[in-house]
Amino acid sequence: MSIANHLFLSQMKPIISASNLNHCYGQGNLRKPVLVDINLQIYPGEIVILTGPSGSGKTTLLTLIGALRSLQGGSLKILDYELKGATQTELVTIRHQIGYIFQSHNLLSCLSAVENVSVPLKLDKHLNRDRRKTQSLAMLDAVGLGDRAEYYPDNLSGGQKQRVAIARALVTQPKLILADEPTASLDRQSGRKIADIMQQLVKQQGCAVLLVTHDNRILDIADRIINIEDGQIK
Ligand code: ADP
Ligand code: MG
Repeated sequence: MSIANHLFLSQMKPIISASNLNHCYGQGNLRKPVLVDINLQIYPGEIVILTGPSGSGKTTLLTLIGALRSLQGGSLKILDYELKGATQTELVTIRHQIGYIFQSHNLLSCLSAVENVSVPLKLDKHLNRDRRKTQSLAMLDAVGLGDRAEYYPDNLSGGQKQRVAIARALVTQPKLILADEPTASLDRQSGRKIADIMQQLVKQQGCAVLLVTHDNRILDIADRIINIEDGQIK
């Protein structure tokens, strides 16, 4: 990172700020540390890729940051909320402000593509049905699936389903996107396309992205790459 860039970032408030984060699985003798003293800051507009061998703690870190798992040690601030000691209600509030993309698309098979994308918009009481549909269609268009809006997941390819999942994660314009191996189940060409679409859209929306991947074919979309091994950032 250049000095100018570093100065610029240091004046901004981080979207993610982890200090001395520790996490263990198991009890008693079986207690096993998975994350050790993680310190990490991610700033608005940054795409950060998290890589590391299988079992190194990437998913655990992502789920902690996503408020999907309770914090054990250290502190973690996401979008101005402190997760340490947060109540269940607060955790839900935080989750609503994050866009999640998982390895498996997790689309609802009984809903069409456009209906799947509009699901998170239902949380916004100010949006009526028509507005939700218009916004969802625009997002599907942005991921190149405007002509597949009424298709059900079973009739879409793996890459197309993953693009619907991206549209669903971005439709609320969250300030933070968390993606866990979003291209892992895709062939090379579809994986590349997913990465390009994500990069283009998140730069447009100015959100921060933390993306876990093994896929070294898409590392070039990152502003910064973080390597984790045995639960420690290298
Ligand atoms: P990665 O995503 O880098 O593959 P994970 O965060 O999924 O790594 O897992 C880190 C380590 O924690 C692994 O050794 C894994 O077996 C273990 N682990 C993950 N989830 C659990 C769990 N729910 N209970 C116990 N151990 C777990
Ligand atoms: Mg994982």
